[in-house]
Amino acid sequence: EYIPVVKLIESVVYRLEKVFKRNINIDASGRNPHIYVHPPAFEQLLRIFLDNAHKYSSDDIDVAVDETAHAVLIKITDYGIGIPEEDLGDIFTRFYRVDKARTRKTGGSGLGLSIAKQLADNNDIKISVSSKVDEGTTFTLIIKKEADNGEAE
Ligand code: ATP
Repeated sequence: EYIPVVKLIESVVYRLEKVFKRNINIDASGRNPHIYVHPPAFEQLLRIFLDNAHKYSSDDIDVAVDETAHAVLIKITDYGIGIPEEDLGDIFTRFYRVDKARTRKTGGSGLGLSIAKQLADNNDIKISVSSKVDEGTTFTLIIKKEADNGEAE
């Protein structure tokens, strides 16, 4: 389905702001990119990152929508506990949790990000992550624009 992605982000964000009782700022800088995705899969993907941002931080959450000639980039940023560099390679593995003692009180099974990875793979979406302990974390979803698919190679 070809959808205006900012609209979809807004509907997920407005719902979660009420559940979390927390501000989630969307910054699309006036852009209104459209992407080909299965909306329920994309919503679930977004929810997983926003749920984690909520669990592992206590300030506002930022969602930025950016666009290049070839892709739409969606960045979910929190200003929370961050992820140690040595763990970044493992967080998409099933049941992996950075700090069992620390994260136990927040609940969680360590499944969220492995499901996100699978959803992203199935929808040809790339995920990248950057993080700094005690500063926060940004997950970036990179969604290729359809016209670009396969043409270059
Ligand atoms: P759940 O399956 O309920 O989401 P979970 O949060 O433990 O549980 P994942 O979503 O797979 O599992 O995340 C794996 C681990 O990555 C987490 O346990 C946490 O240590 C770390 N993590 C994920 N997102 C963040 C974030 N935004 N900030 C800090 N750590 C994070």
